[in-house]
Amino acid sequence: MNPQLLLSRIRVVLCRPSHPGNIGAAARAMKTMGLSSLYLVEPKQFPDPEADVRATGAVDVLQASKITSSLKEALAGTIFAVALSARQRDLGPEIGAPRETVARLLREAEQGEVALVFGNETMGLSNEEILHCQAAVTIPTNPDFSSLNLGSAVQVLCYESRMAAFAGQPPIRVLGVTPFASPPATLDEVEGLYGHLEKVMTDTGFYNPEQPGRLMPKLRRLFGRVRLEKDEINILRGVLASTQVKTGYGRKD
Ligand code: SAH
Repeated sequence: MNPQLLLSRIRVVLCRPSHPGNIGAAARAMKTMGLSSLYLVEPKQFPDPEADVRATGAVDVLQASKITSSLKEALAGTIFAVALSARQRDLGPEIGAPRETVARLLREAEQGEVALVFGNETMGLSNEEILHCQAAVTIPTNPDFSSLNLGSAVQVLCYESRMAAFAGQPPIRVLGVTPFASPPATLDEVEGLYGHLEKVMTDTGFYNPEQPGRLMPKLRRLFGRVRLEKDEINILRGVLASTQVKTGYGRKD
């Protein structure tokens, strides 16, 4: 199924968030990973300018968010919900690892809407809330300092969801940078460089064709490691040509 469609089927549910800034941070975390469906269960303070500030370009996610008065209401229509908990509880589903559980979440998303459920900043999820979920996840952390900021926990799960939706290889777009400044050099252009190098090195006495040793194979190996572009060949050959002009080596006259 289309990865974007899968991601659009994941609801992020924040239960009783206390700080509007965290709601904004969660919206931003979601949008950067291609999620957009945000549910807020009894937010203490929302809407709020602090939420907008922390959301930056993801205010649209905040504006489209749905406010409910219970987790049950927020989960209506979903077929599978994962609880995010910093610690194992007596009750509730067994704790799983984020990657495996998100893989399951995405499989379920093929069938319908699913949810990632996060708890309150101070209390976490209540036992009652956890019991509404069919799976639970703890993000592995430093055991001496295990509680992530709410927005950060949302980011980790949204990232894992994106990775899973795109089978581990989401496309990357580097803004403002062309990945290849010039087209790759053809093999005959690369051979031209080797010939030019050999000529200059022979003329300067650095290379003795009578006793070639491993110099040329080593240089081939060096350039073979990088994928030379046309421009780069031109630069290197320009450097060689300028040495020839300066030293007089290789001049026809
Ligand atoms: N003090 C609370 C943690 C609150 S952090 C507690 O001990 O439960 C707010 C929310 O972020 C948590 O309810 C949980 O949904 C999520 N979260 C934070 N750290 C997490 C972790 N290591 N693994 C999974 N979820 C985490």
